[in-house]
Amino acid sequence: MAGPRATTQVAAVIGDPVRHSLSPVLHNAGFAALGLDWVYVAFPVPEGRAVEATAAMRALGIAGLSVTMPHKAAVADAVDSLSPVARRLGAVNTVVWRGSELVGDNTDGAGFVDSLRADASFDPVGRRCLVVGAGGAARAVVMALGQAGAAEVVVVNRTASRGRATAQLAGGAGRAGSAEEVDAAELVVNATPVGMAGVGGGEESGPGGGLPGGIDPTRLGAGQLVVDLVYEPLVTPLLGAAEARGAATAGGLGMLVHQAGHAFRLWTGEEPPLVAMREAVLTELKLGARPAET
Ligand code: NAP
Repeated sequence: MAGPRATTQVAAVIGDPVRHSLSPVLHNAGFAALGLDWVYVAFPVPEGRAVEATAAMRALGIAGLSVTMPHKAAVADAVDSLSPVARRLGAVNTVVWRGSELVGDNTDGAGFVDSLRADASFDPVGRRCLVVGAGGAARAVVMALGQAGAAEVVVVNRTASRGRATAQLAGGAGRAGSAEEVDAAELVVNATPVGMAGVGGGEESGPGGGLPGGIDPTRLGAGQLVVDLVYEPLVTPLLGAAEARGAATAGGLGMLVHQAGHAFRLWTGEEPPLVAMREAVLTELKLGARPAET
């Protein structure tokens, strides 16, 4: 497809910062692979202007919108209705047209569970899971694991009250716990920024020094799947430690690609070309020439 034309459908991401976003790479690769007359762009929208940005989507007929920090809660209030998942999370990452109305959805949790099944052959049904973190990503993951039938979802978080609130999203399977319980978990997920370039674990001494939640790497081993939602670097200190102990590992790229795939399907009605999308984002990450996140 040679460049945008008068017929081209526009999709976009709003956020601040947003110049580091990989969403344009993912979606434009998907549109190109299917030969769709669509283009995806990034709009930096400062905090406090999500309502105007949602109105602009209506006025301009933007065909699909992704929403990232700091607008996920504000857009939930600005759309006409919410999917059940977005309502429970109080956070929208995808806006879709239904007739003349805007529906807010959240594809993060479904993308995470899809990536477990597709990329790591791991089905959460009946499994013991431990999630470190209680922010936006953790909330989506904890709720999705509960809905997918996990036997137990233990939430470990620096701020205990947030950990307890997040654990409730997994229903009866959820509870707050501690990093000492990691050896009993079949699935361990890091949903904190610890492990991103420049973000350490705080407590740098002791066996878990530098790892999310102070996880002791000697408690990791064969029979476990360790997933880090951080995807830059592709191999984080947690993944390196887990692999050295014989655990299976997966990085955050799978969730990134699959949550985008859900949005792509909702907007275009087409099956997302996930292989092409993943290849494009891997190439971008390996080039490593993107603006810093802050
Ligand atoms: P967030 O809402 O800001 O939550 C961050 C969480 O990490 C909080 O629970 C916070 O604990 C904890 N935390 C932050 N710094 C910490 C530290 N130094 N030591 C221990 N705990 C710390 O962030 P988010 O949106 O959930 O994102 C979390 C990570 O997931 C980011 O690295 C993000 O890039 C990644 N992510 C990946 C994907 C993907 O598709 N792969 C999608 C979404 C997010 P407190 O509650 O105590 O503050």
